Amino acid sequence: MAGRIVQADVDEVKSRTNIADIIGEHVALKSAGVGSMKGLCPFHDERSPSFNVRPQVGFYHCFGCGESGDVYTFLRKIDHLSFTEAVERLAGRIGYALHYEAGGGPAPETSGRARLYAANSAAAEWFRSQLMAPGADAGRRFLGERGFDAGAAAHFGVGYAPQGWSNMSEALTAQGFTRDELLAAGLVSQGQRGVYDRFRGRVIWPIRDVTGQTVGFGARRLFDDDNGPKYLNTPETTLYRKTQVLYGLDLAKRDISRGDPRRVVVVEGYTDVMACHLAGITTAVATCGTAFGTEHMNIVRRVMGDDTGAEVVFTFDPDAAGQKAAVRAFAETRGLKAQSFVAVAPEGLDPCDLRLKRGDAAVRSLMDTKVPMFEFVIDQRLKGFDLATVEGRAGALRSGAEVVAGIRDDTIRAGYERVLARRIGMDPDEVRRAVRAAARRAEAHQDEPARRFATPVADASATEQPAAPLERVTVASLPATPDVVLERDAVMGLLQYGHRLERAQFDRAAAQPFRHPALDAVRQAVAASDPERAGWSVEAVSSVREPYRSLAAELLTAQFPARDDDHAVASTRALAKRVVLRTLDDEKRDLLSAVQRVAADSDGGRAVRLRLRELDAERQRLLDEE
Ligand code: ZN
Repeated sequence: MAGRIVQADVDEVKSRTNIADIIGEHVALKSAGVGSMKGLCPFHDERSPSFNVRPQVGFYHCFGCGESGDVYTFLRKIDHLSFTEAVERLAGRIGYALHYEAGGGPAPETSGRARLYAANSAAAEWFRSQLMAPGADAGRRFLGERGFDAGAAAHFGVGYAPQGWSNMSEALTAQGFTRDELLAAGLVSQGQRGVYDRFRGRVIWPIRDVTGQTVGFGARRLFDDDNGPKYLNTPETTLYRKTQVLYGLDLAKRDISRGDPRRVVVVEGYTDVMACHLAGITTAVATCGTAFGTEHMNIVRRVMGDDTGAEVVFTFDPDAAGQKAAVRAFAETRGLKAQSFVAVAPEGLDPCDLRLKRGDAAVRSLMDTKVPMFEFVIDQRLKGFDLATVEGRAGALRSGAEVVAGIRDDTIRAGYERVLARRIGMDPDEVRRAVRAAARRAEAHQDEPARRFATPVADASATEQPAAPLERVTVASLPATPDVVLERDAVMGLLQYGHRLERAQFDRAAAQPFRHPALDAVRQAVAASDPERAGWSVEAVSSVREPYRSLAAELLTAQFPARDDDHAVASTRALAKRVVLRTLDDEKRDLLSAVQRVAADSDGGRAVRLRLRELDAERQRLLDEE
């Protein structure tokens, strides 16, 4: 059995890794003040960024849901890795050779997920190599006919699965993968006489997650005697969830977050993604065997960062299925601050055919044809009505009003009321009334289930939750009294900049008792820390007793009010001094009230006066210090 990774290596790999690079693969991060970055939280659904990262500290914290930790915690949570896997992945990334305790070698990758990643990666490599093999004519012809040369295939990692039942599984078995691993990765299927290759006689596209790791495959049928579907994907596995993968996102994400405006283009297939990227639309992605849904939208939103001012452009086939997809996407994007558009190519060509017939420039100009999603959907709705008849116009009004009623922004909604009025040839006031009626109908519809379940839910919570959950103390919920503000700022400064103070000053300030119990819990953890150790502040936070750990995480990530690092260090010094002074002043006040109660010439009286003189001297020394 492999031993644990030695702690020194765990620390070293962490110190050599910029947490912002790792988190940045999942979340678009923007600078947010001194030493801090911000983005949309990948652990809860949110519209404005409250997920903070401090690269210098190596720590992240979400002010919305309270998730926090270091780079290993992040990888464990986001990719469901074990601790060892997280360290191994980061070590591999920087080419660092890990050492294991008790003479163990690298852990044989027995834990499920790491093996599944490895199997997918090995399969992708093998499929790629097969595309060059003599038997892969059909695959190369398919790509060539669509305008993709060997360079294009290599860029997207396109491969070929030969005909036959066991070519791939034999190749991967020879590499040490077990039957169960291949099954769990969805690479083979279980038949009555054993397992067989899932993908046979097909062109293969590796589907990668946002960080570029292969999690599954999409495969296109090539041969007439193949009874399977035209497109076949990896089944749902622990790595591959079709509602959560977007083909091309790993290649597109950088340009999506950097574009002006930030834009993502959603196309319908693998060859469309390839055509768009090759033509210069490098922000194109596609869903894999399912419609664009809420989870896709959340992933795109995180990559875009804040979605205000961003654009989502859908290209759909103008056929019935494409129209249905548009109406569905419309429903999914309603809550977006990003503007959504639909682009339909001339003659209803998809991007792949468009590039083939008219070239790269025509694909790029597809973006010029985009119309707002609302307009597109209204037009689709109206198509079914004969606007020449009174009945047709009445039906069209009702149907179109339902769409317009879903627009939340008042100004935009008013604009579309006029669009709808023009399309149907009706009075704008009449349209406005119809939209209001549709909004009321939608509202009544939404409230129904809530009303129905309101009572039982309340009863259950009253009887089944005897103890109130521990209240999460947040920075924002702290009282704004001078004492608490001083304690808050002082412990925040010590956590963030304590390692830049003189050790004696740090120790002394951290030893002063606080009055607020939550802040005092954080202070105690700081006082027990060694600020000269790398990563000390993250450790201090994790050693804070509950329910105050998340407050500590906030204090470590919150924006310290300062112009720059040096200013922040100077402020922390001043705050450290103030908490010490406050303790001295407290003692002085106690002594002054005592001095009146004891005889001046008694031993007690002399001792009190001596201590008072000491306190004054100490106070003066502190004030004189730089
Ligand atoms: Zn969160």
